[in-house]
Order: sequence, then C-alpha cells, then structure tokens
Amino acid sequence: DNKYEVVIIGGGPIGIACALQAEKKGLSYVILEKGCLVNSLYHYPTNMTFFSTSEKLELDNIPFISNNPKPGKREALEYYRRIATNNKVNIHLFEKVTAVETKAEQIHLVKTTKAEYTANNVIVATGFYDIPNYLKVPGEDLPKVSHYYDDPHYYATQKTVVVGASNSAVDAALEIYRKGGEVTMIVRKPEIGERVKYWVRPDVINRIEEGSIKAYFNSTLKEIKENEVILNTPEGEEILPNDFVLLLTGYRPNFGFLQDIGIKLSDDGRKIPEYDEETMETNIPGIYLAGVICGGVETHKWFIENSRVHASLIMEHISSCKTVKHS
Ligand code: FAD
Repeated sequence: DNKYEVVIIGGGPIGIACALQAEKKGLSYVILEKGCLVNSLYHYPTNMTFFSTSEKLELDNIPFISNNPKPGKREALEYYRRIATNNKVNIHLFEKVTAVETKAEQIHLVKTTKAEYTANNVIVATGFYDIPNYLKVPGEDLPKVSHYYDDPHYYATQKTVVVGASNSAVDAALEIYRKGGEVTMIVRKPEIGERVKYWVRPDVINRIEEGSIKAYFNSTLKEIKENEVILNTPEGEEILPNDFVLLLTGYRPNFGFLQDIGIKLSDDGRKIPEYDEETMETNIPGIYLAGVICGGVETHKWFIENSRVHASLIMEHISSCKTVKHS
C-alpha cells in the first residue's frame, strides 16, 4: 500500500547502509533509486581505483575481499550488489523521486516518476555526482565536450584537453596519455591539486615536467570551437587545435531538490544543509540526510568511510522516537 516507516532516496552505498540498519531495527522501508544499483559508482571511470582501502568501503562489517589494497570500480559494484541481493534489500530502481511534501507531523508524501509513497521518515542520500560544475563557456554543449570521463581508448591519437587538476582530471590525463592521446591540461591554479592521491601526484607532475603531458597553469578555457579551443593564459590568449574536451571540474549536489523539500542551506557560500550532527535530522522533523550530500559544495568532506555511520545514527533516532510515541 506504499506506506513505509522510512523512505530512503538514493541507492548509493550510504542509502544501502541505511536500509541494512532499518532492517535491523525492524522498520519498514524502501529505497527509491533513479538509476541502476549504486548508480554513481556505475558511472565512475572504467579503470578507476578507489582512494580508500577495501575495509573502509565496507558496510555493516560485511567483509569486502579485494586482492589489492585499494579496490577498483568492478570490485566495488560486485560488493555492493552482493550486499543488496543477499540481504534482499527492498529497492526500486529506475524510479526518480521528483518531490517530497510534508503533509503533517511525520507524514511525508514522496512522489516519483512511477508512484507515490507515504513515509513517516525520509532519508535523503542522493550524493553529488549528478550535476557537474558547468564552466559556462561558449561551446560547452558541443558533442565533443563531456563532464564525465569513462575510458581512455576513445581518445587514442586525439588532441584532448582536460580542464581541472583534481583526482578526476589527473586520472583522466594520465590514462589518456598512456593510451596514445595528446593531452593538454588547463589548470586554473598554479599547480596540481593538493588533494590528488599521494601516489599519483608525482606521476602527473613528472609527466608535465618532461613534456609528455602539456599543461597551462594559471589558465582558463575561454571558448570551445569545433576544431580548436581558446585559452586565457598569463601570456595572453592561445588557440590550440583540438578534438575532444573533458571538463573535470567537479560536481555538486542538487541544491534545488533539497530546497524544494524545505531543507535550509547555509548562506555562507558553502550551502551546507541544516542538520543535527547527532541524529542527522534536518530542520524538518522526520527528514534526514545521509552520506556525501551533507557537505554542500564541499564534496570532498564526506566519503564512504566517514559517512557510513550516518545510517546507524539515523535509525537509532527513528526507533527511539517510535518507542517514545508508542509508550
Ligand atoms: P552516491 O553514491 O552518489 O549515491 C546517491 C544515489 O542517489 C545515486 O545512486 C543517485 O542516482 C541517486 N539519486 C540522486 N537523486 C535522486 C532522486 N531524485 N531520486 C532517486 N535517486 C536519486 N569515496 C570513498 O569513500 N572512497 C573513494 O575511494 C572514493 N572515490 C571516488 C571517486 C570518484 C571518481 C568520485 C566521483 C567519488 C569518489 N568517492 C569516494 C566519493 C563517493 O562518491 C562517495 O563516497 C559515495 O558514492 C557516497 O555514497 P552516497 O550513497 O552518499 O552517494
């Protein structure tokens, strides 16, 4: 009858962690996921390696066996899929939540592309990988431009510009260079990002110093055209012949979705959603946040290791409220 004590929005690792805890507390729940199971991970680059070791990606102490200390995307997909299927996690895939309306205290109407649900509690665990930070330069919508990177083979022998200097951009630049692409990095700051994985950073710096990968520092992309790109560099404007552009300048949570639900965001530019750190409850009673969504624009702040605990904090709170009400 589509009534649940808990509706979890988002079937990423943290949404699944919430489901496991809800099950333990005997709470009725459903996960609503707009794409496939662990949709964000599925869209990561094919050859990506997690920066976390496998035990730090584990949910509910279920062992994540990986031969290498840091697992790859395929292994992580396998791990989270086995958790979901073995535990018969109740999840509806390819069903996007379009609105959450609070009708009365602890009565929330959750509307999706397929149905409507009534929930006493809602957990928003929607991550941040859906919306790229657009550069807003002319030509950004050309077919040769992408905000997501998948596989280096596609760029072999091609003149490829990579904008950005954090992990995604550096991984893409190195992989494409090693598959015979002609890579030019455009970096707004004077150096490669400080948070780039410590074992990867020297690799890219050396490739740049030896000239295998070209890099323009303190530079920005001004315009993308069919066969070239125009840059602003400290030496003035530069025009480079170009086949493909990868804009790997980060992603951001869907702030509009949070605001439409009624969740307040900090107005200091960081857009941190309002929530109680002990219970994860937002300014709306019965609506909770879990996972990387909690960081606002600071998307590096939360990751699986430090946010999987959100699941038990939330379920403790929901079940303690339930006990109080029923006693
Ligand atoms: P997500 O995994 O993003 O899950 C959110 C889910 O919500 C998605 O499946 C999405 O489809 C769904 N969703 C969104 N909106 C809706 C809607 N309206 N209706 C229904 N469903 C919706 N973290 C680590 O801990 N270790 C790492 O090594 C690591 N490496 C990373 C590498 C890359 C390239 C990137 C981009 C991120 C990496 N992260 C890593 C961060 C990682 O994304 C998060 O830690 C992890 O995915 C967080 O899980 P989550 O469940 O909070 O969010």
